[in-house]
Amino acid sequence: MTIYVLHHKRSGLTADGVQYIGRPHVLGNPFTHLEKDTLAQYKVDTVEQAIDEYRIHFYRELNSNPEFRNEVARLVRHYQLHGILYLSCWCKDELSPRSKDHGCHCDVVREFILSTLPVMYYYQRVVNALG
Ligand SMILES: [Zn+2]
Repeated sequence: MTIYVLHHKRSGLTADGVQYIGRPHVLGNPFTHLEKDTLAQYKVDTVEQAIDEYRIHFYRELNSNPEFRNEVARLVRHYQLHGILYLSCWCKDELSPRSKDHGCHCDVVREFILSTLPVMYYYQRVVNALG
């Protein structure tokens, strides 16, 4: 069971079942470190900052935005069903890495899915034990 982050152009278009979650997707990162024009709403100084801001944004949206929540649920279901998930954006490609590749908001989404599934599993067992 693994989740890979792919580059949308480099292998994101060729791998099977790739889920593009870059801008303007609802799960896209509204923060960017890039100088050029993007669909991002907010400009920050570094990639790391853009990802840290996204982590805060991620949990806030998960709590308040049904469309956002539905997309996360869809990815969780996809991962549970297939045992593998390819998320794609424009930051890096874990199947064919390059030196300029860098961290991505997809890392936050992956981190959430991977940490949540075992908790959900044990939670369900505890709930079942209660009858
Ligand atoms: Zn990215």
